[in-house]
Amino acid sequence: MRSEHRLELQKDLARHLRAGHPWVFRKALERAPKGLPAGAIVDVVEGDRFVARGYYDPLSAITVRVLTREEGEAVDADFWRRRVARALALRRELVRGTTGYRLVHGESDGLPGVVVDRYDRFAVLKLYSAGLTPWREAIVEAVRAEAGDLAGVYGRDEIPRDDDDEAGAPAGRVLWGAEPPERVAIDEHGMTILVDVRRGQKTGLFLDQRENRRLVRDLARGRPDALNLFSYTGGFSVAAALGGSSHVVSSDLDAEALALAREVFKANGLDPADHAFAQGDAFDLLALYKRQGRRFDLVVCDPPAFAKSQKAVEGALAGYASLNRAALQVLAPGGLLVTCSCSARVTAEQFTEAVKEAAFKSRIELALVGETRQPADHPVSLQFREGRYLKALVLRRLS
Ligand code: SAH
Repeated sequence: MRSEHRLELQKDLARHLRAGHPWVFRKALERAPKGLPAGAIVDVVEGDRFVARGYYDPLSAITVRVLTREEGEAVDADFWRRRVARALALRRELVRGTTGYRLVHGESDGLPGVVVDRYDRFAVLKLYSAGLTPWREAIVEAVRAEAGDLAGVYGRDEIPRDDDDEAGAPAGRVLWGAEPPERVAIDEHGMTILVDVRRGQKTGLFLDQRENRRLVRDLARGRPDALNLFSYTGGFSVAAALGGSSHVVSSDLDAEALALAREVFKANGLDPADHAFAQGDAFDLLALYKRQGRRFDLVVCDPPAFAKSQKAVEGALAGYASLNRAALQVLAPGGLLVTCSCSARVTAEQFTEAVKEAAFKSRIELALVGETRQPADHPVSLQFREGRYLKALVLRRLS
């Protein structure tokens, strides 16, 4: 059952792999392999002892991503099916009330570098490593066969390349079955969301915010004026409008996302003309509202990841502090701020500290009234702390 390719780990570096961490960095290997193709299945060994089996990626600093720690487990078509079936079982048991959910969440589902999001009858596959491309067909077949009732599988790789200077988002394509329509509608806790799976950001929607959207719908009762910063296609905005906010401002840099947000309002029986859509930079908008003395009863703030590397953490914390400070300045006394961070490298404690600093500097007193993490379809392997990325705080302005 052994792989013909064996990569020797440097002394004492096997421990975290044995404990279940799925990444082997190039610098952890005794010798960098030469001439091995992307996707080759390799055994990582310590001396004579098998440690883990995974796939090889010559382009990434993460040279091997672990697929199994069982020496007897082969990586064949059946392997991908077992893993997808296991991921699917978790969703069937724990994900309720939605026709859109993450079916495979990479490392934490034992499928490093693989993301599959399901929108009604379409699955969107995103591969994040060149080492997965030889396995694409096997993965598509596993998803198709295990899900059972799909109409199509659409592929949108996000593989970093050496030569991606002129890159931009790679084009998507149908991998199996039917081409997805321009808009795929999902039902999320009774709210309709239209998703552009071919051109939208990521796989089309930020499914990880599902339970927070429901929370915002609850929180919006009796809060007429709402502001949704970094709104993308308006998920939080529509949730707020359905929940009771009579005027919601949605703001994003992405004009196409805002155009789709209007459609999502309509799809939920709401007239977009009753609300506002502001295309532009969130900081500029907040500065304008501050000058105007404008106040909101509910503010949602869900920016993109600020820290993409460990080095960027300090800057990210300063960024969170200043963004939240600006957001607090437009929050009415008694109002609620729902503020999020999706930077994996920023911990919940660090994020809370940054918000605390923002409140202190604005001389605003805040009470933490709720705190959430990512939902069950974005599980976190306990050995893989990098997987723990989303945190949201609900704060009430006391004074
Ligand atoms: N809250 C959204 C997801 C937000 S993702 C949801 O639940 O669906 C982050 C969004 O921030 C993206 O739509 C991106 O276009 C937008 N964005 C990035 N930088 C921005 C900026 N400086 N000002 C306003 N929007 C920005």
